[in-house]
Formats: sequence, structure tokens, C-alpha cells
Amino acid sequence: MMDSYKIEYRCSLPHGLHARPATQLEVVCQRFRARIEWCNQRNGRCADAKSVLALLGTDTLYGDLCELRLSGDDAGKAARELLHFLRYELQEAVTEANSFGPVQIPRSLQATQSPLVYGVAVSPGIGRGELVVMSAKEPVLPLAVLAESLTQRQQRLQSALEQLQEQFQEQLQQANAPVSQVLQAHLSLVADREFQQVLHHFLPDVTSAAEAIRQTQSHFQAQFRTSESHYLQERELDLRDVCQQLLTLLYPGQAGEIIPALRAASVVLADDLTPSQFLKLDKTHLQALLLSKGGQTSHTIILARAAGIPVLTGLTDQRLLPMAGQPIIADAELGCCLLQPDAVAERYYALALQVKQQYRQQLQQQNHSAGYSADRQRLEIAANITSVADAVAAFQAGAEGIGLFRTEMLFIGQDTPPNEETQYQIYRAVLQAADGKPVIIRTFDMGGDKPASYLTLPPELNPFLGLRGIRLYPHCESLFRSQLRALLRAACHGPLKVMLPMVSQPEELHWVRQRIDEEIAELRAAQQPYAVFALGMMLEIPAAALQLEAFCPQADFFSIGSNDLTQYLLAVDRNNPRVAHYYHYAHPALWLLLQQIVTQAHQHGRWIGLCGELGGDPRFLPLLLGLGLDEISLSARQISGHKSALLQLHAGRCRQLLRQVCDADSREQVLTLLAAAEVSEPRPMLRPENIILRQDWRNKAEVLKGMADHLWLTGCTTQPLQLEEALWSREEAYSTGLGHGIAIPHAVSDVIEHSALSICRLAQPVDWDALDGRPVDLVIMLTLSNRQGREQHLRIFSRLARRIMYEEFRQQLRQAPDEQALCEVLRQELKI
Ligand code: PEP
Ligand code: MG
Repeated sequence: MMDSYKIEYRCSLPHGLHARPATQLEVVCQRFRARIEWCNQRNGRCADAKSVLALLGTDTLYGDLCELRLSGDDAGKAARELLHFLRYELQEAVTEANSFGPVQIPRSLQATQSPLVYGVAVSPGIGRGELVVMSAKEPVLPLAVLAESLTQRQQRLQSALEQLQEQFQEQLQQANAPVSQVLQAHLSLVADREFQQVLHHFLPDVTSAAEAIRQTQSHFQAQFRTSESHYLQERELDLRDVCQQLLTLLYPGQAGEIIPALRAASVVLADDLTPSQFLKLDKTHLQALLLSKGGQTSHTIILARAAGIPVLTGLTDQRLLPMAGQPIIADAELGCCLLQPDAVAERYYALALQVKQQYRQQLQQQNHSAGYSADRQRLEIAANITSVADAVAAFQAGAEGIGLFRTEMLFIGQDTPPNEETQYQIYRAVLQAADGKPVIIRTFDMGGDKPASYLTLPPELNPFLGLRGIRLYPHCESLFRSQLRALLRAACHGPLKVMLPMVSQPEELHWVRQRIDEEIAELRAAQQPYAVFALGMMLEIPAAALQLEAFCPQADFFSIGSNDLTQYLLAVDRNNPRVAHYYHYAHPALWLLLQQIVTQAHQHGRWIGLCGELGGDPRFLPLLLGLGLDEISLSARQISGHKSALLQLHAGRCRQLLRQVCDADSREQVLTLLAAAEVSEPRPMLRPENIILRQDWRNKAEVLKGMADHLWLTGCTTQPLQLEEALWSREEAYSTGLGHGIAIPHAVSDVIEHSALSICRLAQPVDWDALDGRPVDLVIMLTLSNRQGREQHLRIFSRLARRIMYEEFRQQLRQAPDEQALCEVLRQELKI
């Protein structure tokens, strides 16, 4: 039967439909026989969705409305899977374009005599090493190549195409996440129908396969260049990469690619670099990359960011080339390079690298620390996964556990389901990756928007209200039993919890418990090792949520499925773009229900988490904390951001906000409440972590920079460079060296998040241009946020200025044995 469907999709990808998402889309489309066309309504360009290059040609940008037209016998199935894919999987983290704006050289670096060269910082960091220049060489092909017959050309080209695909497949097996994204994109390019068609189209009219490759490259380059998206323009590099690799395979040793062998810490200068060239550079020595061309979003830059290699682009300065072999510092924080660094520059960067190192250590600690709010309310931050690879990536990203393993992803999109053994191996591998951390595996949740062809179920008018989740199990009982057996066996390898989707009645839990008991009996009889797991259920049907108590005798734990709970509570199809504006987490009724659920679960001594998309939406984190949930589960890339945001929140204030939200009448009111809420933990001005004892900074500029950086490390500012400048503008009006060896630098500024009084005792006094001409050994710095006002500033400043007139106070400051004691002296004297 010939079916046809249409899906509307508004592009929510920040950089438009570029090569990576287009590749993912193409992979999904390839699973179906249906013809699938992607039409961009803005410019009228339509394309075969099974070709990445054709998709790129539609120039789909952020916000464009597109229509997917599907026709063919499996078009219905394709439409359902594509809807799910577009809604949940085709998402992308916004990669920051780290162009840091106009270069402002900090005062402590201004005395350097080293020549400075400016560029655009696109991958942050600082690298120091010897300058290595990588020359671009156009391949020169030997004459013999020019005499190939058409058949020879066709055969050689075809085998090179196949070989390259195999090569990518092999590399993919060992690649980490960012590299595999790039490899996948390149694999799709080589395998692309349109790419191969154009190659073969040129072949009869040229004298060599190389020529056909060149012409194909130019053909697509011209297409990319006319795109309005700079993102697509930058895909040209991927095309060049793939073509270069084809040439290298066709003409080994003759296609002219020179990768320098790095022998010591090096900063590599090149015109631009393809992703494969970047991958071939020795990362043990590569400290930074300087490119004369190159945008901000090319795959090379993405790989460099993932590998932590600083990159500057736009470096066309003629002074660079003759510096080959000389030391250079590439500063992709400030956006400049220092050639042949002198002692001032070396000292500045030695200190800067120390700060970076401290920052990295802090991040690492945070990554492996448990989720807590500022006032120590616990909230476990777990990850949603669909595969073993996801689990590994999630734990690397700091997940405290797995809150949802959507196992149906192992079952859909193929002709047969995975057997018990395959499943057992996967669940075991996830538990092993978790290494003792908790793992919640959800039994397969098919039906609704996740169909599986082999289940041969009759079509439903309203699949989301039909046979889905747990309701399906009696209709495919042996399949469900095979999953139960695999789970019971896997439970021997770690703390496993299993949960059931779409439960609406206690009898359903009872039915499953009976099947588990029977499978345990079978395993025991067969003498197969197994372990019993905790059995829980998802709360995603309002009826079950409202009647939670009735499930408690059989459910060991609960997890809220906010996607479905919102859909059923608000009566909005979660995948229907026409009613998407009705689907909103700010609806007060949702929070009323969530509050009731969490309270009830805890009253019955049950653990409760939340694993739908709401868990990853940073706008609602204060409310989730206010609910008192035990856990939230989100995608791996959101974990570190959520952990640090959580650390700033005050749970008490969040609970208060939640109460207001539950009393609100409309979602607009909720959004206004959220925008105005003060939910961060108030910080005292004086904290031991802002006290620095025996620091060996050598001059005033180093002290101001060091103290501004320290405030950055303690989270009081996010912009240390601007803070440093604010401090300097005060110093320029008058010296804050008030005499007696004491300086009181100060600033009131927007770049200060939390007001602070920081103190530094210097190992050696430094010149401060003080009123009495004495060098300074004690610095008391006052940095106030604009919100907290000037009045407080004046009050503290004048009290301080009066108190330092007294010898006894000065002695107390200089002799206090530790940070805590020093804080106490100031607290008492200044009454803060
Ligand atoms: C949910 O409904 O919130 C949930 C996590 O399940 P899924 O999105 O897989 O239906
Ligand atoms: Mg659900």
C-alpha cells in the first residue's frame, strides 16, 4: 500500500542543519524504504533526505520551517520514528564561539617587550612551545596517472570509495565521542548518493580519477559557498578532507600531504587544517594551533576544543613565518600570540598557567562530587542513556548514576529484537561502566511514537493513548520475559533497579511481579546465576500519580516521566508542532501535581526521581530542587552545568518559590515569578577562602591580577580581566596605598557576582605608590556588586581606613595565625 505523510519541523538547531545533524537525519531516513523529501519553506529548496549533501543544499537555518514529505509502504512507520527523532535526538549543544572581543592586555603583561600578534580565539587555553610551520602543498600527480582508461578510472575510484568507507568504519570502533561525530559525518559524505553520482558523472570527460575528484570538490564547494550560513560554508573543509583522503588512497605517497613530526612542545602554524590532519598531529607535543584561515565551527575546531588544544585563527601576520623554530606563547584567552617571550611574559604566563591548573582541579573535583545545593540539600544528578557508549560518556561527564536507560532503543529500527544473551551483555556492560553507582533500566517502552515492525500490531488511531509501555507486554509476553531474564542475570554485576513504563493500575505491577517470580524459578532450575533487583515504576499517567499510595505495596521506587506526564495532564500531543505552545512546563497545575507526588512518595518512604526532559531544563532547576526530589536524570552534556548551577542555589528559597508557583493562576505568572526569584545562596562578604596568606606576587600589577583571578576561582566574578581593569581605574584616580604598609584597592562593578572582602599577606612588600611611600605587605580588597550598592562600600571603606590607623589592629592582621582567625579580626572590627 502506498501511504503518504507530512511532518512539519521548525529547525531548532543553533547552527542550522549542518553536516553533523544532517548525517544523523540521513542515517534515520536510510532505515526506511519510503521516499523522504525535506523541503525548506523559507527558500523553497527541497532535497532527498537520504543524501547529506542534498540536505545541506536546502540551506536550512535556525528557525526555518521545513516540511518532510514521506511516501511509500512504510511511510507511516518512518513518520513516527522521524517525529521522535526530530523531537528528542536531533539536538545540539551550542558550541560557544569563543571570540573574546577586543584584546585587552592586562597591566601585568603590558611591560613586555615581546612582539604581539593578534588573532581570534576559537578554542580557549594557553599554549607555549616552539613554532612549527606546516606548509600547504598542492598535490602534483605523476604523468602516468593521466593515461588511465575510463574502465580503469571507474574501478580504481570505486575501490577507493569502498576502502575509505571501511577505513572510517574501523576508526569509528575506537573513536571517542567528538571524533566519532566527525568520522560519522565523513563516512556519510563518502557514502553519499549525490557525492558518488557527481563523481561518476565527471569521470568520462576527464583524464584521471584525480581530476573527477577535483571537479566534484569544486562542484560542492560552489554550493556551500552560496549558503547564507557560515556554518555550512565551513563544511567545505570536510569535503576537502574526504577528497584528500580519496586522493591519498588512489595515489599513495603522491597526493602531497605533509604532517610535521613534533618532537617537543610545539605551537603549529598552518593556513588551515582538515580534521584528519589535526587528528594526525602528535597531541603529546601539540600545545596550540595557529591558523590563518578557519572559522569557529569547523570540525577541526570542534576536535581541538574536545582535545583541549587552544586555537587562534585569522593569523596572517608576516612576522610569524620567520619565527619557525623559535619559542612562542599562544594565548587563546586574550586572543594574541607573543613571539620570543621575554622574562615579563614568561612570568605572567607562569602565573596564568598556575591559575588555569587550579581551575581545572576545581572542575575535576566538582565533576566527581555529589550534587548538593549551597545549603547542602542533596539532589542526585544522573544521566539518561540509550547505549553502553552513552553510559561510559555519562560517567566521564560526572553522572552519579543512570536514571533512565531507554532499552526500547535496542528494539526499534530493526527487523528482529535483540535476544536474551545480547541484552544481558549490554546491561552487564552498563553496570560495569557504572562501577557500583546506581543504574535504573527501564523495560522496553514501545508503542506510541516508538513502533517496532516485528510486533505486527494493528494500526491505532491514537497510538499515544493506545497499546504502549506496560500495556503491550501481555501481547508479546515471550519478548518481555526474555528481557526480564537478561535483567535478572545482569543484576549479579551491580546495583540494578528496574522500572516499568506507562503503569496506570496496581494490577499491572502484580502481573509483572508474577512473571519475575516465574523467571527466577526457571533460572534457579537451570542453575544460572541471577540476582533480584528493586522494581519501580514510572509516574507518567496522571491517574497513577494521583493514586500513588495504591502502588506503594508493590513499587520499590518511583521516577516521574515528565514528558508523558505533561502530555497527559495538559492534553497536548508531545510530538505535534501545531499544539507545541500548549505544552509548557510553566503550567502551575503541573507543579501542583509534582508537589503532591513527591510529598506522597516520601510519606511512604519511597525514593523518587524525575527522568523526563524537564530534568534538563535549567530554568526549572530551582523548582525541582524545591520539590525535594531524590534525583533528576538528564542528558550527559547537561550534567556539569546542572551540578554547578545547583551548587549556587538555596533550597529553602527554592521551596518558597515553589509554593508561590503552586499558587499562581497562569503560566505567564509562573514565568514572571521565575524571572524575579532570588534563589541563590546569599554569601557572607568575609569568607576564609578569600584570604590568601604568604603570596609571592612581585609587584602591584601582579597583586591586582592575582586577587582578581582568585575571586574568579571562588566564584565571586566570572570576568576577572574586567574586574582587574575596574580596580585599576580606581588606582589611577588615587593610590589606595593608605600608609603603614597597607593598601585597600576597591571596586563596585557589574562584573562582581558576590561582594567580597579579600585579604592578601605578601611574602615580600611591593611598591604601591603609597601616601607615606612605604611598600605594601598587606592588601585588603573590597569588591562590591552593583546590586549591593555604594552605601555599603562607603561604610566598610571608611571604617577600614579609620581602623588601620591603630597599630594594634595592624598587628592583629599581620599576625593572625590562619585564614579563620584573620576573618574573625575583621568581622569584629568592621561589624560585618
Ligand atoms: C517521559 O515520558 O518523561 C519519559 C522519560 O519517557 P519517554 O520520553 O521515553 O516516553
Ligand atoms: Mg514516557
